[in-house]
Amino acid sequence: MTPDAEFGYELLVCRFAELAWHPSEGPRPAIVARQLGTKERRWDTVVIEVDPAAFARRRAFGDRTIDSDLLHVVRGAPADWAFYRDALPHPGYPWRYVRQAVHRAAGRDLIEKRRDGNRIEIRRVRPYPDWVERIVAVENKPDLDRSAADRLADQLDHDVETGLADEAWLATETTGERVEPALLRELPVEAGILATDFSAGVDADAADVAWHPSDLAPGEGERRDPETETLRLEIAERAYGKGWRSFHETMRPDCRHFELRREGRALLPHCAAKGKVPTARECSGSCPKFSPEPPQWRTRGWPIEGGPGKGYKRVLDRRRERERDRPESVE
Ligand code: SF4
Repeated sequence: MTPDAEFGYELLVCRFAELAWHPSEGPRPAIVARQLGTKERRWDTVVIEVDPAAFARRRAFGDRTIDSDLLHVVRGAPADWAFYRDALPHPGYPWRYVRQAVHRAAGRDLIEKRRDGNRIEIRRVRPYPDWVERIVAVENKPDLDRSAADRLADQLDHDVETGLADEAWLATETTGERVEPALLRELPVEAGILATDFSAGVDADAADVAWHPSDLAPGEGERRDPETETLRLEIAERAYGKGWRSFHETMRPDCRHFELRREGRALLPHCAAKGKVPTARECSGSCPKFSPEPPQWRTRGWPIEGGPGKGYKRVLDRRRERERDRPESVE
């Protein structure tokens, strides 16, 4: 399978996770994102399992990611008015950056601020909830070969060492055949294996568990250090704000060749000029076949207001919104 197809495969795995998480333990409320992690380790697909009630309280803070600087302020904001330097833990960097974050947080109504002489005081609007239950990393390798198995072994070692993820999976395409047993033996036993068959598109039955994963979370009586907890929260926040349909932000839905095509219960980008799923890299303004949609497509007469490019963005944003609503409705 070509790298281009890997991108399409990744989107299908994301949609499958959205429809059928958890694959071996039964339904768990979760949100799904892609291409997230740290400087050292980027995960293909990330599943954030959530506590539904706490997730509903997180949603009250809005739909955008609360980035690391804002998190520092939002998590530390007190119930009663206080000078921000007294209220917040020392950031480990100059306070003036925190002051900027205070203004940004207040601008987004994440906290309240007021002036007392020269001092800026802050107060929380509501407590920031503990909404993240588990973080699961999924590597997508439609064509599993020995080198992919070796790479996964290294990556998983890193995951175990850093304690960032609670569980790791490899997703691989089987189209009805079993995963090669010799390759299975190459893989770390801690990683689960999801054998997908997306030949008829994606739905909740399009994958089987070929190997059950181990729990990578700290054992009873052990705890993650606060820095790791914060890093996990930052990843979860990025997943919440980004989701996996944000490809339209970097691709060119305003190109006349761009389409969204249905693959079972997923919508994938499709390039009519190239006859395939374009990668985010090739589907850009520098694409030699890029051709802006004609202005008349964007005016009245076209059934979608603003032209098809805007229409695609709206469809993808609405779907992200709908999927964010779902965990709250699970008791
Ligand atoms: S022609 Fe290029 S820019 Fe247009 S949809 Fe295809 S890949 Fe994207």
